[in-house]
Amino acid sequence: MQILSERWVTTAKPHHCWGCTREYPTKTKMGYIVSVDGGKLSGVYWCKICEDFLSDNYKDIDFESGFDYGDLLEFDNYPDREIIKKSKAEVKP
Ligand SMILES: [Zn+2]
Repeated sequence: MQILSERWVTTAKPHHCWGCTREYPTKTKMGYIVSVDGGKLSGVYWCKICEDFLSDNYKDIDFESGFDYGDLLEFDNYPDREIIKKSKAEVKP
């Protein structure tokens, strides 16, 4: 995976953060990252909490290998991790 661009945007519609899966409403400032992987372009949104978490704790992480959706919740020290997991568990079809 190669990162092509990374910028802060004010969202025009609600988006889920790629790192923590939380949904953020319209007009939230989010990081928008465009990458290319195997010739396929993709753009994902990251929230400020995830950005800060990564830059504070994992500056040396290799972003080129990428993250899967919701991967940051797998880090033990991710803020609000238990709250997010709990709120998901409560949403039953
Ligand atoms: Zn997030």
